[in-house]
Amino acid sequence: FDALAAFDPDIAGVVTDELDRLRSGLQLIASENFTSPAVLAALGSTLSNKYAEGYPGRRYYGGCEVVDRAEEIGIARAKELFGAEHANLQPHSGANANLAVYGAFMQPGDTFLAMALPHGGHLTHGAKVSFSGKWFNAVPYGVAEKTEHIDYDQVRDLAREHRPKMIICGGSAIPRLIDFPVFREIADEVGAVLMVDAAHFIGLVAGKAIPSPVPYADVVTFTTHKVLRGPRGGAIVCKAEHAKAIDKAAFPMMQGGPLMHAVAAKAVNFKECLTPEYQAYTRQVVANAQALTEGLATEGLRPVAGGTDTHLALLDLQETGVTGVDAETRCGAAGIVLNKNAIPFDPQPASVASGIRVGSPAVTTQGMTESDMKSIASLIGTAIRDVDGSRTAEVAAGVRELVGAHPAYPEPGRTS
Ligand code: PLP
Repeated sequence: FDALAAFDPDIAGVVTDELDRLRSGLQLIASENFTSPAVLAALGSTLSNKYAEGYPGRRYYGGCEVVDRAEEIGIARAKELFGAEHANLQPHSGANANLAVYGAFMQPGDTFLAMALPHGGHLTHGAKVSFSGKWFNAVPYGVAEKTEHIDYDQVRDLAREHRPKMIICGGSAIPRLIDFPVFREIADEVGAVLMVDAAHFIGLVAGKAIPSPVPYADVVTFTTHKVLRGPRGGAIVCKAEHAKAIDKAAFPMMQGGPLMHAVAAKAVNFKECLTPEYQAYTRQVVANAQALTEGLATEGLRPVAGGTDTHLALLDLQETGVTGVDAETRCGAAGIVLNKNAIPFDPQPASVASGIRVGSPAVTTQGMTESDMKSIASLIGTAIRDVDGSRTAEVAAGVRELVGAHPAYPEPGRTS
């Protein structure tokens, strides 16, 4: 960091200001976390310099014998961590991982089934603005209106009607567990490939806090930077029979050279995830999400699907008369960082939304527990109802107290 500060104070200032922002607020974005100094060290290393198109032992460049070791170690750890037959750590992001899998199993125009975006799916699952909706025929399924759980009968009916090449489950705002055996059964019935996009919850799987999709899915894609707490990036694990197709799709079909510093950082992260401490962390993530959800319910925010089994909750604000966008702004003004989110069957456009999404990964990394979640819920309730901003200072003081007791990146002198 000293070299950066001496050469480029503008960007050094961005780095320190962002660290201050992280430290001074409550980070409740469900897809974010605080990665470790060990992971950051690998990310900020000279491995970033190396071109290594191809795979270990089969590169298109010389001088890869050292970086090969990072990828081999990372692949071995991923296979151990997830009980997987094959792993590919090269996708630069979750979207790239999904694109690679679509490339491996489908041709443009082919049909796949996936969760609708407004019901908790992801842009890359067939939204019209995404390559996935432009190049493929995406058929959306959703949640049942009464239970707000995935409507498995609808999934089965749509699969029988459309005979998709692939069925995808997983998403960005699904608070409840997904029934992977049922998805497997439906995929088998219609001869479809089952892909699980586990980006959000793979960290909980790694920590054994929730059941794994790996035994059921043909292929599992994920990001490495959410509950998992690794570097920003993507990865794929799959059955051995799909290994060749997946590797060819990641490179050279969709990407060029891998980011070897990121591959190494993923390996470091997997080592962290193999520890009992990480398993305890993931159990606390779930306990905290549940405590936060219960606290928010007592503040008059209705938990969608009746609660959460994971690291995130979706709250319906309609009974408070406050929109998602206003809730996000009011909480943000007091240092509580969360996002507005559409709820299933939302009467509002996505830019306004009737809900908010909250997640516990980052605050749990800071060491907060259930009693802190109750305090956070009360602060959120106050902020949301604070129409004129007269209580912003009071809420901000509550936030400062919590983050003061549980600082993010507490080591003295650590700035990046
Ligand atoms: N899939 C799901 C379910 C996600 O939630 C996300 C990102 O939040 C992605 C894919 C895309 O990941 P990335 O932003 O790394 O491209």
